[in-house]
Amino acid sequence: MDNLKPAQALNDRQDLGPHQRVPDVEVSKSPITGFLWLEITGKCNLACVHCYADSAPDRSHGSLELEDWKAILQDAAALGIGMVQFIGGEPTLHPHFPELVIFANECGLEIEVYTNLTHVTPDLWQLFEERHVSLAASFYSAEPGVQDAITHRRGSQRRTLQNIKAALERSLPLRVGIVRVLDDQDVTEAERMLRSLGVQHIQLDRVRGIGRGQDFGIAEVSVGELCGSCAAGRAAIDPDGWVYPCVFSRWLQVGNIRDQSLEEILMGKRLGRTRAVLATEFAQREQASLQCDPQVVFCPPKMPCPPQQSCSPNCPPSVGCPPPPMPPGRCPPMA
Ligand code: SF4
Repeated sequence: MDNLKPAQALNDRQDLGPHQRVPDVEVSKSPITGFLWLEITGKCNLACVHCYADSAPDRSHGSLELEDWKAILQDAAALGIGMVQFIGGEPTLHPHFPELVIFANECGLEIEVYTNLTHVTPDLWQLFEERHVSLAASFYSAEPGVQDAITHRRGSQRRTLQNIKAALERSLPLRVGIVRVLDDQDVTEAERMLRSLGVQHIQLDRVRGIGRGQDFGIAEVSVGELCGSCAAGRAAIDPDGWVYPCVFSRWLQVGNIRDQSLEEILMGKRLGRTRAVLATEFAQREQASLQCDPQVVFCPPKMPCPPQQSCSPNCPPSVGCPPPPMPPGRCPPMA
């Protein structure tokens, strides 16, 4: 692997994207990541029209077992990774979700859960409070019918709103991303509604042309769909163990946790080279335009935000982007 040429370092099947030149870059080592997305399931109770993970009720939890995820958390803590985000699919549907949250907490990791907030049981609220979990969710419209049409689930907007209020009542850290999916979607009113409830951290995003997002007229995935924050300090692991620079760059597989340790992948040249190539692409993008669309404040399709700004939808607002590394935690025994 160490002798890979730049194009090979990205992926055996795909490069950065169609028609994109891969710059000739050299890197020695990939820096350790400060933030990990843990995509623990592909299953979701919703079936959003634009879902980048192509999640739906009939998807699976993937091939990684509970012990695999625990080993990842243990390795993450040992490597000094500061924060993990449980995401999916809907991560709370994973049968071992509570156990994983507890384990991550006992490893000393900061935890964020990216959830659709449509179904939160009393036990889960207790878990979130006791384990100091931050929450993140997507929202679409002040009009229930509009949001329900996007999520393909009647009543979803009402439930999400209820649970946004419940999270605020419990003083749980919460950020909400409003995703513009439809041309006539009133995101301004959606934002006004959330702010009136007391949501302080709100970000706007657009549909990414990844997964079902490709149904929105984007035929092929490319780095143009990435916001620019995945070039350093973060990585994502999917339900089958594949590792990418971020949850959106799913075609840029840099290894699989079933074949290599987390440290080998994060310190490996494949990830290092991929990040370097992405950083070069993002730098060129930054030179092309430093302007952001005022209507969609981060990562608009043709006018991306500068890469070093915190424009990732999954960027934890409370701790910056990326979060600072923490001292290695001590995990409980895995048995
Ligand atoms: S976008 Fe989120 S809530 Fe919607 S189907 Fe995908 S994972 Fe589920």
